[in-house]
Amino acid sequence: MRKRALVVGLGIAGMSAAIGLRRAGWTPVIVERAPERRTGGYFVGLFPEGRQAAVDLGIADALHTRNPERAAGANSWSVDRRGGRRPALGFLDQPGGPSAVLRGDIEAALWQSITGVEVRFATTPVAITEGPAEVQVLLEDAGTGAQYTESFDLVVGADGMRSSVRRIVFGPDADYLTTWNAMICAFQLKEQVPSYGASDSIIIARAERAVWVFGLADHAPTALLTYRTTDIQEQFSGSRVERLRSVFSGIDDPVVRHVLDSLDEAPDHLFDSVHQVRMPRWSTGRVVLVGDAAWCMNLYSGMGATSSLRGGAALGVALQEHPDDLAAALNAWEAGLRPFVTGHQRSARLKQQMFVPSSRRAEALRSVLLGLARRIRSRRPVMETGGPQAPALSGASR
Ligand SMILES: Cc1cc2nc3c(=O)[nH]c(=O)nc-3n(C[C@H](O)[C@H](O)[C@H](O)COP(=O)(O)OP(=O)(O)OC[C@H]3O[C@@H](n4cnc5c(N)ncnc54)[C@H](O)[C@@H]3O)c2cc1C
Repeated sequence: MRKRALVVGLGIAGMSAAIGLRRAGWTPVIVERAPERRTGGYFVGLFPEGRQAAVDLGIADALHTRNPERAAGANSWSVDRRGGRRPALGFLDQPGGPSAVLRGDIEAALWQSITGVEVRFATTPVAITEGPAEVQVLLEDAGTGAQYTESFDLVVGADGMRSSVRRIVFGPDADYLTTWNAMICAFQLKEQVPSYGASDSIIIARAERAVWVFGLADHAPTALLTYRTTDIQEQFSGSRVERLRSVFSGIDDPVVRHVLDSLDEAPDHLFDSVHQVRMPRWSTGRVVLVGDAAWCMNLYSGMGATSSLRGGAALGVALQEHPDDLAAALNAWEAGLRPFVTGHQRSARLKQQMFVPSSRRAEALRSVLLGLARRIRSRRPVMETGGPQAPALSGASR
């Protein structure tokens, strides 16, 4: 008999886990709260570990990447307090050379690979009860309101930062969500900021607030507004657009004006507070959490999608290597993954300073350090090859 697993959540972690489970000989069933599969999404940088996981999951060929071509004129720009723009290191210039994708690109590639897996939309778990040989889940169909109980050999909670599975099985959000006193708003621009190249990236990083425009090769850019605040609750009251206009009102710049005007017209956007999920253990008995539900590193780490892919792929490998011992499989899986996750959770604090400096002093330091890094980096190919023709590695291309 093939073992059955309930996977809660049709995001990157859920679909990666479903592919991993299927490869390990299990039958996954996915439930998703939304009435249909989401598409689009914000800019995501996919790091080497994520690209390797995509290969391991067999989705690499289906994964559409959108790195802007420096050769075709794409650049990264930083805009200073006087409104002057200068070439800068962009997100894609980080060590490891992340690939530019939209979150929806990863999800589309995973979706192609889960053909044949049963997916139930508008369905959520309401109660989870563990027995010695199986786990019983009370599921609710949001369309009809009908509730029914079904048994599984394993439940995989891949339902994001505010996971219901975590709340039902491990305890309230307050026990695991750490608050970062910061907000984000991410959305797709209809068109590039006037006077910039179609695939240019733009960074305005001021004390406590920042605007990032991520240029893409074959798509309009996406925007990220992020700011620091100690009153998170207050941010969710009133009109979001008005609040963002007020937060960014002190930056009188055409880039900020264009981004804020675009938000008015954007078909959808993500507006949320920033947290990390910290758990001493990601599984108990026959229930395991994967991705943001277990270890959300947050957007500043830039490793959430990468770790979700890797977590799902590794879960499949662990179950394959321990076919008759679930506890051993989950122990091995967590032992293998935890150092990677912990390291990136820690470094996210420093990366937050790169995204949105905490003060004027941090803003100045950031500017000096990145300027230095850019100069070193643009000299490196010349030194390495000794040739004057070597291309400078700056801007958003790879
Ligand atoms: C603005 C922004 C920029 C980012 N940039 C990067 C980046 O550059 N690089 C990177 O690697 N990562 C990045 N990330 C992080 C990355 O997008 C996430 O870590 C990753 O998508 C998490 O995937 P997930 O599947 O764990 O969770 P989610 O994407 O949250 O998916 C959870 C799924 O579960 C469903 N669900 C929720 N509750 C229930 C329920 N009760 N029942 C059934 N289904 C449910 C949801 O509808 C959703 O489909 C960024 C994140 C943000 C917000």
